[in-house]
Amino acid sequence: MTTIGFIGLGNMGGPMAANLVAAGHEVHGYDLSPEAVTAAREAGVTIAVSVAEAVAKAEVVVTMLPTGRHVRDVVLGEEGVLAQAGAGTLVIDSSTIDIHSARAVHAALTDRGLPVVDAPVSGGVAKARAGTLTFMVGGAPYAFELARPYLEAMGANIVHTGAAGAGQAAKICNNMLFGTTMTAVAEAFVLAERLGLDAHSLYDIVSTSSGDSWALRNFCPWPGLVEGSAADNGYRANFAAALMSKDLRLALGAAAEAGVDLPVSSGADTVFAALAATEGHLDASAVIREIRGRD
Ligand code: NAD
Repeated sequence: MTTIGFIGLGNMGGPMAANLVAAGHEVHGYDLSPEAVTAAREAGVTIAVSVAEAVAKAEVVVTMLPTGRHVRDVVLGEEGVLAQAGAGTLVIDSSTIDIHSARAVHAALTDRGLPVVDAPVSGGVAKARAGTLTFMVGGAPYAFELARPYLEAMGANIVHTGAAGAGQAAKICNNMLFGTTMTAVAEAFVLAERLGLDAHSLYDIVSTSSGDSWALRNFCPWPGLVEGSAADNGYRANFAAALMSKDLRLALGAAAEAGVDLPVSSGADTVFAALAATEGHLDASAVIREIRGRD
């Protein structure tokens, strides 16, 4: 049994922390949201009143926060992980953040002699609950090996993608694909509607044809087609449009630095930026509302 500090108990962090509890670890969790705290407590997480308290006795710290700014604040801030963690504490950041923030966090922790990996995830809330996430891991090989057993308690596919920031690089490419296919799926439903096609038959055809995608099956933007979809629940977020927009921004920022022009992803970025500005709390599949023009 390991004592684990878990910061960020939201849509993803909550079920991930619950799986660490289920694997027999003692998890001390912290989140700013009372709703997230209540759910985590029910799953057996011991709730801390601050980052410092969650980290104080931890041998491993996991962060699952929205953006690079949040991770820098929580890890590098005055009362943060860097200041509070004991010698040898392993730090696993599973948030999806920019590569520069990931490398800054790596550098600061490594300077203190603490092992660290950036380990963003893919698979969404369903796989977070099932403990079958994919982890893309950047960091030194020894840190990867230290992290592996904890990642295995939360995931089914654990891939070491390279040095500091390489996990984020892989995640950014993956989510850029998700953002573009999500936008394209929504466009197909809107076009089909205008052409007088039935959404059910479109789904049946596309899901067995060359237009099939993970976005269609897991984030179907049309209500009544996929059981449990956000579209059937007023687009309550499983993966918020604001986070999708953030990830497309991260990808296009990295592409600009690398001198690569990405016209399709740029289009998806424009659509998601508009949605995030007004309804960013809704699910990414609500992008169909942006394409259709709000009802
Ligand atoms: P979320 O908004 O549901 O959860 C983030 C949590 O962090 C919130 O509960 C918030 O209160 C908490 N938080 C923010 N600042 C904090 C602080 N200073 N101290 C403590 N808690 C703080 O987001 P999520 O959907 O769980 O996503 C988390 C990360 O995982 C994001 O980077 C996202 O891009 C990535 N991600 C999400 C999904 C998904 O399907 N939801 C899938 C893969 C990756």
